[in-house]
Amino acid sequence: MKTLRVNAGDGYDILIERGLLKTCGEQIKTAVSAKKAAIISDSHVAPLYLETVQSSVRAAGMETVSYLFPAGESSKTTENLIRIVAFLADNGLTRKDCVIALGGGVCGDMAGFAAAVYLRGIHYIQIPTTLLAQVDSSVGGKTAVDLPQGKNLCGAFWQPSLVLIDPEVLNTLPAHYFSDGMGEVIKYGCIKSAPLFERLKNENARDIIDDVILECCAIKRGVVERDEKESGERALLNFGHTCGHAIEKLYDFSGISHGEAVGIGMVMISRAGESAGITEPGTADRIAALLEKYGLKTQTDLPVSQIVHNMAFDKKRTANGINLILLKKIGESFIKPSSLDEVNALFGIK
Ligand code: NAD
Repeated sequence: MKTLRVNAGDGYDILIERGLLKTCGEQIKTAVSAKKAAIISDSHVAPLYLETVQSSVRAAGMETVSYLFPAGESSKTTENLIRIVAFLADNGLTRKDCVIALGGGVCGDMAGFAAAVYLRGIHYIQIPTTLLAQVDSSVGGKTAVDLPQGKNLCGAFWQPSLVLIDPEVLNTLPAHYFSDGMGEVIKYGCIKSAPLFERLKNENARDIIDDVILECCAIKRGVVERDEKESGERALLNFGHTCGHAIEKLYDFSGISHGEAVGIGMVMISRAGESAGITEPGTADRIAALLEKYGLKTQTDLPVSQIVHNMAFDKKRTANGINLILLKKIGESFIKPSSLDEVNALFGIK
């Protein structure tokens, strides 16, 4: 079993092992010694894995209750959040008990937020089942639901008590969600690890996925430990996301996935960086080639001016503009606070 300790919140372990779902109960009991566990999952994941998790948790001596919601981002609402919190109250969960998020990023974000606000905070365990959740959203304690006004606008920083990653569950994940997760994996290579980027280029990520997950979690762990609440370095994880969010918004969040939009964003900002003499020449092409290898888009027909205009409304804008994330070269990233005029100039917009 591979273990990473995260020194954030009360401190917690990320455990990575094939078949871990079958023995998750013992690990959970050791981490939180709960009497009762509320398993939150979605309508796609539950038929595949709920029974396994439930049996293991019960075998470890905990009582279980489970709450299922319809799969998909449209479920990540305040209404569902309140339903989950009410479910925890109806089932008498106490501060000694725990929530288990069994699913992708939607489940982890919403169950994590429910755990953050129920009784002013109870333990929760992440059991991520998508690649995106295994390499990104399950680690670091960002929890949230969406508002009609925008994604993830209502949430809290609340670190999990344990993250259990079983790479075997990726065998049932539809291919386009695997590609989506690869967008985030490639991002880690771009911002922090040239060796990871090279490995993804020279090998097939599926063949080395356990190593890839470990490396991504290790990178995220380091960033989160140094900047838990995103007042500095954690913003590097947003590489490609400011352009990406603008693109997703222009597509009205349909017809393009988050991973595809971020991929296009990473190429776009790197091309702009190259033109400005900030980014090593050839970087954008190298990123585009890797995205293509893993089935992701690298460009859009949307006019650059429209994308850049929409970036000005990003929820992470500052009073003075936007914190752009740029690469010096693959594996070396930095934050460039930029006024809107500077952003326009970088993208060659008059
Ligand atoms: P998701 O949770 O909707 O999962 C994608 C789909 O895959 C769903 O239909 C789900 O039911 C299905 N699925 C999950 N695991 C499966 C499996 N093993 N086999 C078969 N089907 C499976 O989406 P996602 O891409 O995992 O996560 C996206 C969410 O993550 C967004 O809401 C985003 O805001 C959030 N996010 C959060 C953070 C964070 O730091 N908290 C970071 C990145 C993204």
